[in-house]
Order: sequence, then C-alpha cells, then structure tokens
Amino acid sequence: MNSDRDLDADRGADDTLEFDYQPFSLALEEPLETAAGPIDAREGFLVRLVDIDGTIGYGEATPLPGWTESEADCEAALERVQPALEEGGPSAALEAVDQQVAARHALSLALADLQATRQSTPLYRYLGNGPMIGRVPVNATIGDGSPAATSAAARRASDRGFSCCKLKVGLRSLEADLERIRETRAAVGEEMALRVDANEAWSYDEAERALETLADLDVAVLEQPLPAGALEGHADLRAQQSGVDIALDEGLLEHGVDNICEVGAADAVVLKPMALGGIDVARKLAAWVTELGITPIITTTIDGVVARTGAVHLAAAIPDIPPCGLATAELLAEDLGRDPVLLEKGAAVVPQAKGLGVDGVWADE
Ligand SMILES: [Mg+2]
Repeated sequence: MNSDRDLDADRGADDTLEFDYQPFSLALEEPLETAAGPIDAREGFLVRLVDIDGTIGYGEATPLPGWTESEADCEAALERVQPALEEGGPSAALEAVDQQVAARHALSLALADLQATRQSTPLYRYLGNGPMIGRVPVNATIGDGSPAATSAAARRASDRGFSCCKLKVGLRSLEADLERIRETRAAVGEEMALRVDANEAWSYDEAERALETLADLDVAVLEQPLPAGALEGHADLRAQQSGVDIALDEGLLEHGVDNICEVGAADAVVLKPMALGGIDVARKLAAWVTELGITPIITTTIDGVVARTGAVHLAAAIPDIPPCGLATAELLAEDLGRDPVLLEKGAAVVPQAKGLGVDGVWADE
C-alpha cells in the first residue's frame, strides 16, 4: 500500500500544505444492513489541503464498520497529518496514516485532487495518463425484497437505461432468492446483465445448487457467495466452469491478490477505495489483477460526494472497466455538496473540470 511516490513526485519542494478536517453525518434513505448491524447514517470526515497559492485538494474518510478502522481511530489518524506534513511532507503524512485505510483514502485523495488541480487536468487523467473518457458504465444495486419488488426495481433500472443490475441475496432462503432472480430475469429480458451478491451468506452446498440455476438464468457474476475465509471453496466453485463468474469482495481484503491467484479463486475482484486505503492503491491493484487475468470492479462504500467522485475518476482511469458500483448517491438522503457526476443511461458522466471537480463542500465556503 505504499504509493506516495506518485502523489508527491511533482510537488514543489518549497511549498507548505495546510491540512484540516471537518466531521459530517449524512442520513441514509434506508438503514443499511452491515456485518456490524444496521446503520442509518454515514459518518466521517471531509478533509482539505490548501497550498501556499491557495489551491485546494479535497478528500473524504468515511469509515465503515467491518471494512475500515473505527471513526475514533480514523480521527486520531487525521490528527497526525499536519505534524507529519510539517516534518516530512506528503510522504511522511501518508506514512503516518498508512494503517488507517479510510484516513489514508482521505489524505491521498486530497493530495491527488490538489496535484490534478495544479496541473489543470481532471483527476482521472492525472491518475491514468489515459485518453479522454466521457462516461463509465455503472450497475444498479437492488436490495432484498419480495420477488415482485425485486423484479419491479430491476424493471425501473432498465427503464432508466441501466444495462447491469446487481441483486443482493442471502437474507432469505436460497429457494426464495432464486425465485427473485427468476422473476427478475423474466421481467427485464435477456439484454440486462445480472449480478448476484450474497455477501458471504451461503454454504458451499447452497452455492453449488445456486450456480446451476444462475447459469440457466444467464447470471454473469456471483459475488462472494461463501464466507471470506473460504478461499478454496470459491476456487472449487469456479472450477465447475458453470459459466457464472465468481467475484470476491470481502475475500479480497482477507486474502490479498496473491493468495486468490494461487488457488484460482476469482474471475473478478471488487475494489473499494475506502477499504483499500485510497484510489491510488485501488488503481495499482486494478492494474495488477488485470495483468493476472482478473477483472477489477470499482465500488463505493456508500460514501459522500467527494469519495464517490474520486471512485468515478478511478474507474475512468482504468481501461475497459466493466459496470461499477458507483451509482450510490441515491442511497443518501443528504450529501456534502452538489454532485458533479450525472447518471445517464446506466453510465456515470465523468467530470471534466480540473481535479475532482467538486466544490461547495467545505462548511465555511
Ligand atoms: Mg459485495
């Protein structure tokens, strides 16, 4: 996770950066079920770097129980940033928060936003050096519900132009979930790509039984059917060559890319910048897994507009990115500021302003 080099390579040696942070709480439209219980708000810290010319870089740390450090540990890490900056610049500051992934996400994003803004280039081009990208494909995410509610939600997503839906399963019996998927396929037709995310809920036998039906229903991806620890189990499911790709999400954090590859446990991995320590870390992982023949999928952890927009830029910096879990703004009842990312026909329109392209987020602005 050592990736500070890119971030401060072109930084002038004689400037000083001022770091500051503000706590926030954003109510969710609906309570979010997590491994640590339901939460009804996303709480975290908006961070800001200001250089000697007054150029600003924004970042966001939004800890999520089970995926990142706690809110208290995150704040304690952020407290270390300014002294470390004064002592040793950005590299030292990143090192000071290296073990707190949400805090590191915030700082590295603020540094990247600052650099891209100084270079008058959109963040994704600063990250990837790639071509102009207008949009990145996104998936709709559909939570638990009756078969009728699930298929209706998928139909609405289809009407809005989404070409990929991810269905959350595992909160009801396997048969009931398979019925939901069956009704959904019938409702949206063959064109819609369907993914299924079990969030570790199934036993091996259940997953094996499910695979047959999922293959029949032309489900493209089965995400994290088994507990994160079950690396061999995922490899065994994948070895069945059902035609359904196996994706790891929770399992990636637990095992890392090397171990996943060694046993052949995944066709795709879900990269969550907030849980990995930043979009710079996620970008390197994406390049690495792509080289190994694994598909990267970028997903937010239901973050505020600053982190979400960072994830959109990250996705835009990765060549041939498949639909990503970036359409999560509507899960929040309020936000840190105006959303610069429009959703259009199942794609996120990538901001072309310099840096992240977010403004009006700092409380005293
Ligand atoms: Mg997942």
